[in-house]
Amino acid sequence: MADKKFPLGVKELNKIIEKYPTPFHIYDEKAIRSNMRRLSKAFSWAPGFREYYAVKAAPNPRLLQVLKEEGAGADCSSLPELLLSEKAGIIGEKIMLTSNDTPADEFQKAIELGAIINLDDISHINYLEKNAGLPEVISFRYNPGSIIEGNDIIGKPEEAKYGLTREQIFEAYKIMQDKGVKRFGLHTMVISNELHDNAFVATATMMFKLAVELKEKLGIRVEFINLGGGIGIPYRPEEKPVNLEAVGLGIKKVYEEILVAAGLAEVEIAFESGRAITGPYGYLVSTVLHEKRTYKDYIGLDASMANLMRPGMYGAYHHIVVAGKENDECTNVYDVTGSLCENCDKFAIDRKLPKINIGDKVIIFDTGAHGHSMGFNYNGKLRSAELLLREDGSVEIIRRAETIDDYFATLTGFENSLM
Ligand SMILES: *Cc1c(COP(=O)(O)O)cnc(C)c1O
Repeated sequence: MADKKFPLGVKELNKIIEKYPTPFHIYDEKAIRSNMRRLSKAFSWAPGFREYYAVKAAPNPRLLQVLKEEGAGADCSSLPELLLSEKAGIIGEKIMLTSNDTPADEFQKAIELGAIINLDDISHINYLEKNAGLPEVISFRYNPGSIIEGNDIIGKPEEAKYGLTREQIFEAYKIMQDKGVKRFGLHTMVISNELHDNAFVATATMMFKLAVELKEKLGIRVEFINLGGGIGIPYRPEEKPVNLEAVGLGIKKVYEEILVAAGLAEVEIAFESGRAITGPYGYLVSTVLHEKRTYKDYIGLDASMANLMRPGMYGAYHHIVVAGKENDECTNVYDVTGSLCENCDKFAIDRKLPKINIGDKVIIFDTGAHGHSMGFNYNGKLRSAELLLREDGSVEIIRRAETIDDYFATLTGFENSLM
């Protein structure tokens, strides 16, 4: 069972709302720090452990700074994400560029920052060399095809656009070797939001075997193996969280059986987790604007799918509580909606909740990753503020809410007919 507890009482929350109107996302710094420590500890047996936090999950440099203090690097896949990492002080080999369909300026900035470049395709070798030059360390993203199954969000590997095939992998490392590159890594990302501990051990087994083959066929000793992101979180209270300690030990066992046995005892383990690091420690806080009773009962919030896309886009479950009514009986069944002119703009459908009144504060859980970051401006909606709940209980604003002026800032070519 997952523990679903908002870190603030209703009085403290209302005080924050007086200063920062809803909707906003609020992140729990203390919980994020201790979670990052827990992941590092689960892999403390490895000769080196690296977590490249997937910037796309929560692209806020203040959060990146917190994670950097806990030893994390950054996994980037766009020029702005590289710049966000740089602003947070994460540079050099603390950055891994794992992008696809990559434009030249992104490769150039990554080279300038000394980042590790992880190529998504064999054809990118020439493109990279021509447009940005070759880096010191190169890694390739492996797509195992039909060898393994994948899961719902990321799909079957052979239908995924990412990575190099098995044949291409060997060819690609050979080309790089011939070009004089001396330092190598290996990468894959084949699962998303996975809750089964053994899926990570299976991925590690596959990658460790591949590293041994690279050594045997090409004499390449990879410096690190990046197992990607994809560690899931229990969005539903009845789901069980991934046991990071058990995953660490399971991977240790195959590390010894495969890598150490093949004389590769120095290989470092890397992850580029986003969701598992910050996901459970962010909350979308909103206010009830309306109750509507038609064929169903609707609770209308001041937040919409523009603040949190996952329920509308994937039908994803996000846990909801009403501040101050955490222990009340769930006597009512509601659809909890936003205001987009799209019928999928619902945070919950047929959800059992306590009786809700207009003005109640509704807390939507697990928005610390792929929450604010997936926001958009459709229907003229503005993106919300982001707040950081500090370890000492104070609150820091780490992104202000968008304003109408922000919305108009990119619009040109029209006459303001009122002027
Ligand atoms: C999205 C992504 C991640 C992070 O995934 P999570 O589910 O947040 O752990 C890591 N690596 C790559 C290449 C990604 O695209």
